[in-house]
Formats: sequence, C-alpha cells, structure tokens
Amino acid sequence: MSALVNAVKGLIQHLRAMGITLRYLFMKPVTVQYPEQPPEIYPRFRGRHELQRYENGLERCVACGLCAAVCPSGAIYVEAAENDPEHPVSLGERYAKRYEINMTRCIFCGYCEEACPKGAIVMGHEFALADFGRHELVYSKEQLLEPAHPHVIVKQV
Ligand code: SF4
Ligand code: SF4
Repeated sequence: MSALVNAVKGLIQHLRAMGITLRYLFMKPVTVQYPEQPPEIYPRFRGRHELQRYENGLERCVACGLCAAVCPSGAIYVEAAENDPEHPVSLGERYAKRYEINMTRCIFCGYCEEACPKGAIVMGHEFALADFGRHELVYSKEQLLEPAHPHVIVKQV
C-alpha cells in the first residue's frame, strides 16, 4: 500500500515539474545570443573607466590623487606634473602625467568616480575586458581618454 502511495506522490511531483517546464517553455527567454545580439544594461552599470575632457579639449583630471587614495584595491596610479601655462593639458595647476588603472585589481566599486571632484574619471558601459596578458589589463591614460563604444543597449528607466 505504501509503495502505491509513494508511486502516486512521485507521479504528482513529476507532473508538477513538467508543469513548471511547460510554463517556462512559452516565456520570453532572459538570455540573449551574444555577441550577435547586444545585451541590455542599466544606465548605472559600472563598466570600464573613461577619463573625460572639457569641450575645449583640456583634460578634466588635475592629478589630485583622490581617486587613487579612495580606491580600496590600490588599482589606480597617478603621477602629477605642473602645467605649462602656455600649453596647459588640464584646467588646474597640475595635470596627470601618468594615469593608470590596473583592471586585474579593480572590483568596479565606483568609489573613484564618486571621489573625483572634477568628474574626470567615470565608469562607462564597456564590460568586454578580456585579454591575453596581465600587462594589457593595465590601462594607460591614453587608453582611458579614448571613449569606448560598448556593444550594449542601455535600458530606458
Ligand atoms: S572602481 Fe573601485 S576598485 Fe576600481 S579603480 Fe575605481 S575605486 Fe578602485
Ligand atoms: S581622476 Fe579626479 S580624483 Fe583622480 S586624480 Fe584626476 S581629478 Fe583627482
């Protein structure tokens, strides 16, 4: 008798499981065919950093070092230099002669962006950062000044 009860219970559970499978079969999939289909991300998604310029081309970064100081993983290196008044690089007295972010250390917390008083370092939407060597993942100032064009759709929220 208990074997019959167990068999009926098992059958009910199988039917329940089949019901769940059938329900999901007709739902819109949450996965996308990447890279053919770009993924949708939220506007506040924190991806690869970008250094910003003013409209006149001058760099926003004044090499204050706050981003490096606040970074919990020590991923940012800033080397400051004095601006030449005839040919300034930034709007401040100093500019970043060298600015590097080690992406193998970065945990994408966004503290650097929050700490920057000039809005110079922002986190963009690029997430495809894989490379073949560790050295390629230390991004130079020149790389960070180059705006990325990520293959994504930013959700309208
Ligand atoms: S996102 Fe966070 S861990 Fe990455 S560089 Fe900025 S402060 Fe450092
Ligand atoms: S990116 Fe911002 S916080 Fe970092 S050194 Fe430049 S101005 Fe300072």
